[in-house]
Amino acid sequence: MIVIPQSYDILVRLDKQNLAVRIENCYSLCHKSESVTSKESTSFFIGRIFKENKSYVAEMAVLTLKIDVDSESLVAQLFSALPKYLHIDKVEKKTLLISGSVRAFRELFLGHGNLKIVKGITQYLGDRHPLFFEDILPSRRLLPQEGVFVEKIPLSEVETFSSDLLAKHRYIAVKFTVNRAVAHEMVRHRPCGFLQESQRYCRYSDSKFGSQVTFIKPLFYEEGSNEYKIWEKAMLEMEKLYTQLLETSTAQAARTVLPNSCKTELIVYANLLQWLHMFKLRTSKGADPSMREVMIPLLDDFKKLFPAVFAHLTVEK
Ligand SMILES: Cc1cc2nc3c(=O)[nH]c(=O)nc-3n(C[C@H](O)[C@H](O)[C@H](O)COP(=O)(O)OP(=O)(O)OC[C@H]3O[C@@H](n4cnc5c(N)ncnc54)[C@H](O)[C@@H]3O)c2cc1C
Repeated sequence: MIVIPQSYDILVRLDKQNLAVRIENCYSLCHKSESVTSKESTSFFIGRIFKENKSYVAEMAVLTLKIDVDSESLVAQLFSALPKYLHIDKVEKKTLLISGSVRAFRELFLGHGNLKIVKGITQYLGDRHPLFFEDILPSRRLLPQEGVFVEKIPLSEVETFSSDLLAKHRYIAVKFTVNRAVAHEMVRHRPCGFLQESQRYCRYSDSKFGSQVTFIKPLFYEEGSNEYKIWEKAMLEMEKLYTQLLETSTAQAARTVLPNSCKTELIVYANLLQWLHMFKLRTSKGADPSMREVMIPLLDDFKKLFPAVFAHLTVEK
């Protein structure tokens, strides 16, 4: 067995790549698949995720749009649709800032494609990113909508927003390597996008996983102590049984014996406002110490990256 500490990696470069590459990279990271490099295979891959009902992968690419409309009734029309998982700010009477994932924009069209403002947004996105919309657009494209002007806001401009707008419109992903218990606590934060390594398909006896099961070192027990030795014995036994089950059954069946200490990798993608909420809960004295182990240093890094949003937050001792 392999024993490693928990860790994290802030994916600062992720949002600087094109949408398809971001989605593909996150998927590869979690499924330990080879990276898709050619243009053809990227488009095949994107087509496949929607065909196979894997729309959750499209939560890993977020964009910000500025929408100018020629009538306030179009603004009201959008709000009447109660869009889900989109952050919308009315910055002027007829100007909106909207941020959300490819999935959220697709589902806005699927649920409210009859609304003129939604058609205008989808026409703009469909023209620039046909890969993400061609399966849901009639005749594969829409006509521009009169009175709806859409513009994509580059990340460099989002970063110049005032702190309250920055918190809502700047999204960032973090890849965590944690134990299964911590991962389970993280996925309770509903507004985030998640991608997690699949224990159903990853066979830890395969060479690409080091031919062994990887466990997270428990912070509760000092290495060499009696408790640590008991924990170590339990993990060794568990690994033996898991490998034995793999001889005659699938990874998804064998994984049923794997414990909370098992290592998992997951990407959590959220806007800064949601991260702020998570830091408040998950660095508090009442939080799981294993969760605090990664969230407290992560908060320090976020303070350096986005001082306007996080500098005021202090950690309970
Ligand atoms: C110290 C600690 C101990 C915990 N112990 C337990 C436990 O014993 N058992 C347990 O089950 N969980 C436990 N939790 C998890 C906790 O209940 C939450 O599920 C988790 O922290 C997610 O946070 P949240 O609910 O505030 O918001 P999120 O899921 O992050 O959602 C963010 C916001 O979205 C809104 N929202 C999202 N979904 C809904 C909805 N369906 N309805 C209304 N509003 C919504 C709310 O305004 C919410 O504040 C614990 C959490 C902590 C920090």
